[in-house]
Amino acid sequence: MVDPISLLFVTIFSAVMSMAVLGSLLPAAIPGVRRWLAASIVSILALALFSAQGHGPRWLTILAANELLAVAVLMILQGCRQFLGRRPVLLAEYVACLLLLAGLAYWTYVAPDINVRIALVSAFHAYVYASIGWVIHLARPYARRQYAYRFASIGAFLGAFGHAGRGTIYAIGLARQTELMQSTPINIAFLAVGILALPWLSIGMVMLAHERLAHRLERLANLDELTGVLARRAFLAQAEAAVRTAARTGRPLVLALVDIDHFKRINDNYGHAKGDQVLAHFASVVAGNLRAGDVFGRLGGEEFAVLCPETSPADAVTLLNRLRARVAQAEDGPEAQRLAVTFSAGVDHYRAGEALANLMARADAALYTAKAMGRDRIVVVPADDEILAARSPGSADGLAPRR
Ligand code: GH3
Ligand code: MG
Ligand code: MG
Repeated sequence: MVDPISLLFVTIFSAVMSMAVLGSLLPAAIPGVRRWLAASIVSILALALFSAQGHGPRWLTILAANELLAVAVLMILQGCRQFLGRRPVLLAEYVACLLLLAGLAYWTYVAPDINVRIALVSAFHAYVYASIGWVIHLARPYARRQYAYRFASIGAFLGAFGHAGRGTIYAIGLARQTELMQSTPINIAFLAVGILALPWLSIGMVMLAHERLAHRLERLANLDELTGVLARRAFLAQAEAAVRTAARTGRPLVLALVDIDHFKRINDNYGHAKGDQVLAHFASVVAGNLRAGDVFGRLGGEEFAVLCPETSPADAVTLLNRLRARVAQAEDGPEAQRLAVTFSAGVDHYRAGEALANLMARADAALYTAKAMGRDRIVVVPADDEILAARSPGSADGLAPRR
């Protein structure tokens, strides 16, 4: 038989479990987890005091129990804000906590009325749960990985709904009771929604923390540490996928291999750290000037690659010339001297049925030609018919083969 006391024990047990899991996540230093862990500990204490109601002094089992539970849910909210990179503490919420304590004392000792106390506490919890749901809902990532965010915000909104309903019913006198742990159906129903929101949220917090860990690992594996753009392996994986799509749909796909000119001189003249700074700056300028569907990665050293789906070689040249102008204009760090950074690029388009390696080899040969022709320029591999024309007697071959 479900009764309020067994609900409390289920909640205490699940709070202990989530405390153990959150504790194991502490070394990962995820923002907010420390507060969530503290919230679990405080809620266990509060729930244990609740379960002693009728057997202990009122200041402990009513005042302290309610106030501690209020502080615990507030800490969950603060942890969520911290997790999402927001300012965790709002002074007004601490003031509300104190007012709650004053109200509880008044309606316990001066004018004892459990229904007013229930309405008061429920209003506070409804506000905090709704804020948790809202802050998580607003911060949910758009593309994928919404699962943990949705799970946590739905639990919080349910909790808000349960507490708001319970508070309203007791505030307008639709239900009355003489002690908190009374087993009336309406009390059990609202206690269930209100109290069980807590373990739901605990699981949500653990899921959010794991999601953050997975995201970090993915970034480490896929992004280049210095520049923040795709690392070689991740770029090649995306390029393979783009080639498969182009092969299937017959849509155009262009690859540009981009190499900074005389980069070694920058290192030699200004030091390796300055070289690193130039690389990061270069990558951010390029990344900031590409379209949403373009794929940009660092293949290694000062060599990068841009993949442009749905683009003709001529349009890719226009894009790269725009990038050349942007790179030339861009301020190179606030305090640093301005360096004239230029790059060369080799461009070619995907030809039906070929492997990515072939496309890369041709773009690489074009890049080599651009370097041989004096750098700071873009060379496009001629279309097949132009190559045939170039091979015919009397015509000049504009493409210097690499080997
Ligand atoms: P070119 O115009 O022919 O491309 O000449 P370059 O000097 O740019 O090319 P080269 O391949 O001779 O030299 C590339 C240099 O880039 C050599 C290497 O030490 C430096 N380099 C590679 N990776 C990094 C890095 O992560 N940071 C810094 N600072 N330098 C790097
Ligand atoms: Mg170079
Ligand atoms: Mg190079």
